[in-house]
Amino acid sequence: MSSTIDINKICEWCGKEFIAHKCSTRFCSKRCSEHAYKDMRRKAHVETENRRTEQKVKKKHFASEQFFTPRQCAVLLGIGKSSVYRCLAEGIIPCIRLKGKTLISRASIDKMFENAPEYVRREKKEAEPIEEFYTTKEVLEKFDISNSWLFKIATER
Ligand SMILES: [Zn+2]
Repeated sequence: MSSTIDINKICEWCGKEFIAHKCSTRFCSKRCSEHAYKDMRRKAHVETENRRTEQKVKKKHFASEQFFTPRQCAVLLGIGKSSVYRCLAEGIIPCIRLKGKTLISRASIDKMFENAPEYVRREKKEAEPIEEFYTTKEVLEKFDISNSWLFKIATER
């Protein structure tokens, strides 16, 4: 038989005093609990919206700058940060290192688009038809190799 405990608590939603039977109870009723839950959800939603706006403002702000960090460049181009670093390493996007900071100029990004090569649609490569077939014996004779070596090569594939 479980013992019932009475704990005097104050509802976190309506502020009324009530008797709880568990220490973790925070509200006097299901109604208050639901109100609090909805409020929590609403606050979280507002916070997300605020963060989104903040990011948009930041993006708008640096979009008019002349120099970007790789992170800003990634946001601006809508690609991943690691993709930007790969482009920097491959020289696709020019950059300079200034006192430990990597900077990309807006002009060089614009130039990249001006000098963009013509878009070529990637064709599906057709497999070349295999025209020659050899038996094991023929391969051994043709390439002058040992049976064990051929076996080793064949099983490696
Ligand atoms: Zn309440």
